[in-house]
Amino acid sequence: YEPQIDLAERLARLAPGGDPKKVFFTNSGAEAVEAALKLARYHTGRQRVVAFYGAFHGRTFGAMSLSGSKLQHRRGFEPLVPEIHHVPYGDCDAIEQKLFRHIAPPDEVAAIFVEPIQGEGGYIVPPADFHPRLRALCDRHGILLVADEVQSGVGRTGRMFAMEHWGVQPDIVCLAKGIASGMPLGAIIASAKIMDWQRGSHASTFGGNPVSCRAALVTLDLVEREYMPNARVRGAELMAGLRGLAGRHALLGEVRGLGLMVGADVVAPVGSTEAAGAWRDRIVQQAFERGLLLLGCGDRTLRFSPPLCITAEHVAIALGILDGVLASLEEPAAPAGPLPRVAAAG
Ligand code: PLP
Repeated sequence: YEPQIDLAERLARLAPGGDPKKVFFTNSGAEAVEAALKLARYHTGRQRVVAFYGAFHGRTFGAMSLSGSKLQHRRGFEPLVPEIHHVPYGDCDAIEQKLFRHIAPPDEVAAIFVEPIQGEGGYIVPPADFHPRLRALCDRHGILLVADEVQSGVGRTGRMFAMEHWGVQPDIVCLAKGIASGMPLGAIIASAKIMDWQRGSHASTFGGNPVSCRAALVTLDLVEREYMPNARVRGAELMAGLRGLAGRHALLGEVRGLGLMVGADVVAPVGSTEAAGAWRDRIVQQAFERGLLLLGCGDRTLRFSPPLCITAEHVAIALGILDGVLASLEEPAAPAGPLPRVAAAG
């Protein structure tokens, strides 16, 4: 199909690094991760894989086994894919000094799977040297670096791929979610010399179907022309506004992110018997009732991941609604008086 070829060529051009690329299409993010896992094992002939605590990569067996987010995602589905090792996110020393020395010889490791910014895990932006060090570590040991850009890619952070913020070129990139504006499509992009599996080693009937590919081509036009710059400007407005709210509301803590991938931590009020997560869920619910859709992530974080076409007016409305929710939750509780009399029924 022509749209499939056009899209593969376009993605190959967009991906960082000048070397020739190959693209494999899927229907979802989990399938893209699954394809990357299979390709990494196939190409390297190694079995072990490293992933991170807090990671989320999807619901199929490989993707679920790589994930280290909520127990609920794994409970009841074991046994999972073996030889996957989890380490703390943002910590290269834990891989080199602990995992590689005591558990998993690096020459048996096929790949390290990493989210440029951890999504489900709490919108965690890693330390500035994390991704470059991870790249160097992979190069030292012949390990493939797989960037799961399913949530962070296609302009969301103000760059086409979030890894560009650190100048890091992964060996395999996983894409999905925003790539076709809601039509089912995922993809992996890899150097041609890495995507060396034999014809028929992996395939998908509907992966790369022409309707989704056409939607992706139009999406990329919009992202490149308008939405990526918009993500930068609106993201800066959103973060500045949230930091302003954090200055005025004790319930709101650290605000972090890149472009329109923004997280804000919730802080439980002093003396509260409830954890910050319960307050976060209350904020999400009350915001919903006032017309603002938020979603939690991590233990205590509010995630702001709006459509990339959001306007300055939308940002202002969202901040206004959140301001109102925080103010109402921070109001001192009405003093406990006598209980109202209830007329006996019947
Ligand atoms: N990878 C990341 C980073 C994600 O955030 C998600 C979904 O939230 C996935 C993979 C799975 O994508 P899908 O739901 O399309 O299978």
